[in-house]
Amino acid sequence: MSQTTADAVRTALPMAPAKNDAGIDYELFLDCVHCGLCTSACPTYVELGDENDSPRGRIYLMRAVTDGRIELDESVQKHLDLCLDCRACESACPSGVQYGKLIEPFRIHMEKTGTKPDNLSWLQKFLLYRFTPYAGRMRLALAPARFAQWTGLDTLMRKLGMYHLMPKSLRQMHEMLPPLKAHYGTMPDVWPAEGKRRARVALFTGCAADAFFPETNLATALVLQKNGCDVWIPRKQGCCGALHYHAALDQPAKDFARANCETFFPDGGEIDAIIVNAAGCGAMLKDYGHLFHGAPEEEVAAKFAHKVKDISEFLMEIGPIKPTHPLKLKAAYHDACHLCHGQQIRKQPRQLLEMIPELQLVPLNESEICCGAAGSYNLTQPEMAERLGERKAKNVLDTGADAVLSGNVGCLIQLGRYLREKKPELLIAHPIDALWASYSGDRL
Ligand code: SF4
Ligand code: SF4
Repeated sequence: MSQTTADAVRTALPMAPAKNDAGIDYELFLDCVHCGLCTSACPTYVELGDENDSPRGRIYLMRAVTDGRIELDESVQKHLDLCLDCRACESACPSGVQYGKLIEPFRIHMEKTGTKPDNLSWLQKFLLYRFTPYAGRMRLALAPARFAQWTGLDTLMRKLGMYHLMPKSLRQMHEMLPPLKAHYGTMPDVWPAEGKRRARVALFTGCAADAFFPETNLATALVLQKNGCDVWIPRKQGCCGALHYHAALDQPAKDFARANCETFFPDGGEIDAIIVNAAGCGAMLKDYGHLFHGAPEEEVAAKFAHKVKDISEFLMEIGPIKPTHPLKLKAAYHDACHLCHGQQIRKQPRQLLEMIPELQLVPLNESEICCGAAGSYNLTQPEMAERLGERKAKNVLDTGADAVLSGNVGCLIQLGRYLREKKPELLIAHPIDALWASYSGDRL
């Protein structure tokens, strides 16, 4: 955007006070010059072709409500609620619009004023907010499902149509379950570096990710150790707060963030980095400074955020040890939104995968378009989540790949849901699982 255009927009449109009910910095609205270059990157616009479901349209709606020019009625709420918060519009925008800083406080405002649509049943809310953010509780909650999968009871119940006896909301959640592997149990607090020590890091193991894909946390610790890192796994760490924050529940999100800062920070000055392998958690952890903007916790939270690194980002910074065992695979890589748009990490996971002998990375059409997972979006907006899940599945199948890799728990679950039946032999995994398989010679 040229300065002239931005200034022209600033002067042409009516101004509102710098502070407003949603606490949004009004200047942020003015960065948008309505050029429309973001629309083709927006999954909901691409699917529906409705301007109100585009980034430009949503910014216009939020600003018009803030100005008092339109009511925050049901139709406006619907368009804002359909946004995935995938931030593809930020990557596409040449004017540097910080869309996340508009939609997130606006949604919190909608939640506080009772104008945010409530699309979840009480049971889904209970499981999402009382179980999912707690790794131990999640593991317990998944134990019956794991047992059913391992014994074949799951397949039998499916064949007999017994899942239709479940409440619909529980069935929706059950349908998402990936094949559950055995949990590693308890990891030691500290894993010493292999060979000469190159760094001291802390590992963020998360909550849902650890319950659904424990093998990836284990692989991450082993890969770090192999790359000469002392790995500290703080026992008292908790959820990053993203699930609550994206559902506009900012207080519980802040409680989780505060607890994590306290857990990691007594030793924070000593460690070189806080490593995370889930894109959604990484983007949230890196945003802690902004979460506490203007609050007494801001300084510590910003220091914490500064230490956070995605595993692929960190390994490419220190220079990874070359993997040696071949993985004869044709693999497609799906960019998780919170990695490519939220953290601008695109090349590092691909660089790691390209190091693996005999792994052939094939291009994936629309790899940066959201798969429809987006936290709890597949529960709150099942129709759009399904459209995007099917769209992604088609793009993956078109590559002819035998594996699809992605660095986020939600994406892995969503990819599995829409691809498992279409191509049962397709491997769905985290890039770090592939890297560890190539280091160790184990099967992926
Ligand atoms: S958000 Fe950016 S790309 Fe989209 S209309 Fe506004 S200025 Fe243009
Ligand atoms: S965050 Fe994603 S869904 Fe929302 S407006 Fe931006 S591109 Fe569209």
